[in-house]
Amino acid sequence: KRLFVEEPLQAGGSIPLTAEQANYLLNVLRLDNGAPVLLFNGQDGEWRSKVVKAGKKTGRLEVEEQTRAQTPKSDLTYLFAPLKQARLDYLAQKAVEMGVGRLVPVITQFTQVRQVKTARIAANALEAAEQCGILNLPEVEEAKGLAEAIEALEPDRRLIFCDERHEGDPLAALSALKGERLALLIGPEGGFSDAERSAISARPQTLTISLGPRILRADTAAVAALALLQAAAGD
Ligand code: SAM
Repeated sequence: KRLFVEEPLQAGGSIPLTAEQANYLLNVLRLDNGAPVLLFNGQDGEWRSKVVKAGKKTGRLEVEEQTRAQTPKSDLTYLFAPLKQARLDYLAQKAVEMGVGRLVPVITQFTQVRQVKTARIAANALEAAEQCGILNLPEVEEAKGLAEAIEALEPDRRLIFCDERHEGDPLAALSALKGERLALLIGPEGGFSDAERSAISARPQTLTISLGPRILRADTAAVAALALLQAAAGD
């Protein structure tokens, strides 16, 4: 089991369990005294700790030794139109597993979900980070309009626009981007309007790619695009 904690990590440190962590470790996983738990806080690398129970519902983790040095944060940004509940959970988890470092919910003309639960996205991102072995917590930004989100991108960041109307070999196009700062953009179930398409393409650093001949659901498109990026960029 791996846990994200807020506290600094060092040998001999003692981390009190929050009520939620205690419930999960002691009641759901039924960990006993001495059970190992890996910890990370986004700064001090990964540490092995052991469970010290103080009753059925409380306890702490005693920090023992470092198992991995800190690794840098992923710089990959993911702009996505929010979906409904379960599919949004899936989308946030898979994006983090596939290497996204910053999630930006974007409200587009045809976005159906307008009330974005950022805390829920962050909870899913945290769960995925704990599960997949990264040592940083992905950032989750507040939802913004498409124009504002594009405007907020750093000028040197390449925007990869996934467009079901586009044709061509995405792997070849993405392979040419090695070393660049990247942002991935995937639309809502209703796709982008013509005005939005023009605005996206007008950004000089936009690269439009196809994800194949079939129209993918937005959550499938995210996983497909991130797998292609991983194959092309290698991380
Ligand atoms: N409204 C569109 C339609 O019915 O023609 C489909 C939108 S699709 C369900 C959701 C998003 O996934 C799109 O905005 C696009 O970003 C991405 N997407 C889906 N299939 C794709 C493909 N074959 N190539 C590139 N992007 C795709």
